[in-house]
Amino acid sequence: MLKIGVLGLQGAFREHKHSIESCGQEALIVKKKEQLDEVDGLIIPGGESTTMRRLIDRYDFFEALQEFGKSGKPIFGTCAGLILLASEINGQSHAHLGLMDMVVERNAFGRQRESFETKLEVKGVAEDFEAVFIRAPHIVNVKEDTEVLATYDGQIVAAQQGHYLAAAFHPELTDDHRLTQYFIELVKKSKLKLAAQ
Ligand code: GLN
Repeated sequence: MLKIGVLGLQGAFREHKHSIESCGQEALIVKKKEQLDEVDGLIIPGGESTTMRRLIDRYDFFEALQEFGKSGKPIFGTCAGLILLASEINGQSHAHLGLMDMVVERNAFGRQRESFETKLEVKGVAEDFEAVFIRAPHIVNVKEDTEVLATYDGQIVAAQQGHYLAAAFHPELTDDHRLTQYFIELVKKSKLKLAAQ
């Protein structure tokens, strides 16, 4: 069995834990940086990216998270988690973890559309994925080695760059666990690859 961590500083981490467990894997809510050593992959949940960043600094997580990603262990950022992964945030002089090469725009869908649900085609995952958007960002652009997995209204809303996965929506808020399962497969493959090194 794999052990998947969910960064538990703020936001929708309990829902992700439930989603991981629904896929038959063990989930650990990570509240201390030392717990990162115990997990094979990590989900950074949705919530509020500036608040989460403040807590990452307060609990001395910043370097540990960067090392975790750079060691080749997969990270899945959803919504605020996607913003934390990005190398550039439109309108802000500094990014956060900067692990994934992409420019993101926060709160990108405007006031009328602050929250909505839609069925999305997510490449390699589903043709009708139930996607919940809450004050969601979108990805403005990605590098060539990054695969766009989903778009909505012409905007990129899910992408993958190697062992980094990002979704602008909340895959943990419905009973549709297919994107979580996709991440678990990525963790499985990375674990085998890292063990063979
Ligand atoms: N708008 C939030 C932010 O900028 C993200 C919203 C979410 O995670 N649902 O951090």
